[in-house]
Amino acid sequence: MAMNLFGSVANAIAEVVKAFVETEVSEDNIIDLFCMMHNNQSVLSVPLIKGCRMHDPKVPTEFVVGTCLEPFLAYVSYKCMPSAKTVHESAELRIRATRDIAAGEEITMCYAPEIRDYQTRKSDLKTYWVIDCNCLLCQKGDFGPQGPLRDQVRALKNIDLAQYPDRLGEVKRAIQAMRDAGFGWGADPMRELHQQLLRGYFAKMNASECLRLALKIRYQIEPAQYPPNSMQSRLETLYVLQSFLNFPAPGTSKLSELPMKVKEVAIQVKFNLRDMLARDIAQCFGSDSMVANFEKDFAERQSAEFNLHVQAFAKNKLYKHVPLHRGDAARTKFVKNMNELLKGTGLIALDAKDLL
Ligand SMILES: [Zn+2]
Repeated sequence: MAMNLFGSVANAIAEVVKAFVETEVSEDNIIDLFCMMHNNQSVLSVPLIKGCRMHDPKVPTEFVVGTCLEPFLAYVSYKCMPSAKTVHESAELRIRATRDIAAGEEITMCYAPEIRDYQTRKSDLKTYWVIDCNCLLCQKGDFGPQGPLRDQVRALKNIDLAQYPDRLGEVKRAIQAMRDAGFGWGADPMRELHQQLLRGYFAKMNASECLRLALKIRYQIEPAQYPPNSMQSRLETLYVLQSFLNFPAPGTSKLSELPMKVKEVAIQVKFNLRDMLARDIAQCFGSDSMVANFEKDFAERQSAEFNLHVQAFAKNKLYKHVPLHRGDAARTKFVKNMNELLKGTGLIALDAKDLL
């Protein structure tokens, strides 16, 4: 398999190597070495520093900058639902847990991108990493849409809705077809189809619908996903969600279709979500990482500017943003505001544990 894929490149390298070394090295040796390096390489990616320029769920939180061969990492086993990930920070390559790991439990990583579709994942793993995975997820087999429905949803997941917003109707019908076939919000590719809707509505400049979709993805779809979405891909949703909650003050929001009460809480919630973004980024990439420090400063600076603005211009001077980590009163107020926002956009209210 690997021979077929890399054969021509490996043969070219073999020719070059043979021309420069005195010892005879067979092409097979070189191809073996080449495949060994390829299959054991680690992808280096760095977190993107996004600031306030973030409304597109298709823009990832991390950016691939290269690959390296790190012998220790090469020993870490692959799992489709891993317990750790690598983080490239400055000159360091770190391994960070992505969930709680029990004492004695093996640390595992997912080398491939997050591929939820069973058939694509199995085929890519075999083609690019020569892995025939038999993890708990793979043992469950293919529980996604099959036949023509699979083809339909997979095709729609890849079109550029930002460029072709008139195809929104097709995406909506595909979501309905999945629902009619008995698939819940956690099924693949329900999350990506909703992200597509969001991009389409953004192209149509419908901010209220974008906000409703971002809320639905974060609070209804993502909690139902199996396997769970990775920590960094959930950060993308949080970036998108808070970008549709407008700054600066009540009454100036572009969310024109929403009731005034909802618009007022939307602005308060925005700053709380920015606090959460700073917290989750620190958890994902490390509290000493460059991106975590940037987000922490950014959240603090934005909230200070907002408080100054409210003092100077807003009619309701009672509101002052207090970061969530400062105490129970701030968290209680956030839960109340968040539920006001969810209900005001047609979604169901949630308990504090699902919101904080
Ligand atoms: Zn697997």
